[in-house]
Amino acid sequence: MRAACATLASIGLCIACSAQALQIEFDYSYDTRGFFTDTATGAPLTERRALLTLAASFYSGFTDALAPIAPQAGDSWSVRITHPSLGGPQITLTNLTIPADTLRIYVGGSDSAPGVLGFANTGSRLSATGSTQFVQAVTTRGQSSAIGPNATDYGVWGGMIWFNAANDWYFGAGSGGLQPGRPDFLTTATHEIGHILGYGEADSWGAQIDERGHFIGAASVAAHGGPVPLDRFRAHWAEGTMSTYGGMLQETMMDPSTPAGERQLPTILDYAGFADIGWQVSVVPEPAIALLLGPGALLALGVARRRRRTSAS
Ligand SMILES: [Zn+2]
Repeated sequence: MRAACATLASIGLCIACSAQALQIEFDYSYDTRGFFTDTATGAPLTERRALLTLAASFYSGFTDALAPIAPQAGDSWSVRITHPSLGGPQITLTNLTIPADTLRIYVGGSDSAPGVLGFANTGSRLSATGSTQFVQAVTTRGQSSAIGPNATDYGVWGGMIWFNAANDWYFGAGSGGLQPGRPDFLTTATHEIGHILGYGEADSWGAQIDERGHFIGAASVAAHGGPVPLDRFRAHWAEGTMSTYGGMLQETMMDPSTPAGERQLPTILDYAGFADIGWQVSVVPEPAIALLLGPGALLALGVARRRRRTSAS
């Protein structure tokens, strides 16, 4: 969102005032290398797509009211994103319609050099013209104070995620099948959505980093017990930052990497960061997560074994 139109910030209107759970739509129209689709038949790879839905469920406790993006006569917008299946080239999306309280994420994957799990962004060269209400919906989803160096909130249309198909991914909902050397797809998907939701992307994230490169958002400082060191790109917690998940010690999900064979879902500190970015955060209750992941899943979570990181992003 850094490229958004800064001159239109701070005209706060409540365009969509009824809060409801954040919806994340995944779009497979650029999944051209068969990461989520059988390219021979065109059939969806349902197990993989279901895991994206499961990843999105960790954000279902976010209750911000996001204005719909609904271009009318005289309204126009576009955004350039990285092609989610090719990694490099950019594509331009024009005049998308996105419902209230909803983000759209374009997903795909392709083979690349080992060592990378995936990456995400919210696009560049975001442009919008038309009515004030429309431009606000595109640039901030009607959230006030969401743009600029002093931003305190965040609203975004959606984004893109590319997954590295060269990995020997573990595509399981339960943690019982995790194996050394196989990166956990659910962990990476949930992490990459976290970037679209603001880590390293939102102006409000950047506005709360001090001169030492520590994050000083109030909720995060409270959760961590002080300013939180960041990675060198200032887009993650520092490698190895610890917090708790389900009451158990766990490395944060939003540090730069997860050891292959381990599962790291959003910790208390990860959710605190989202709150500081400006999301109305309710942590998904543990019983609900247990139901989502299956019996025994929680028992295997949060075991903070120290193992060499194999991948990052
Ligand atoms: Zn990352």
